[in-house]
Amino acid sequence: MTVARRNPAPSGAWHVRVDRARCQGHARCVALAPEIFEADALGNGRAIGDGVVAPALVGKLRLAAANCPEHAITVAEG
Ligand code: SF4
Repeated sequence: MTVARRNPAPSGAWHVRVDRARCQGHARCVALAPEIFEADALGNGRAIGDGVVAPALVGKLRLAAANCPEHAITVAEG
């Protein structure tokens, strides 16, 4: 999992991105955090909507990112 700060004054929002080149479609992210991830037509994981994650879901976001076997999930705060 990669965690990066986007600016020095976080707004409280988090952002997630799935690297399509790395993703192998295990769907662990979808199983662990269905509020954040969905499967595309090929079964690969992708962020729902624009990838903005509410602070209340950060725990699930971190869990999903930590359990991605391909290290395809990038998490950013702010
Ligand atoms: S767990 Fe990782 S490799 Fe598997 S679908 Fe989700 S992003 Fe892709």
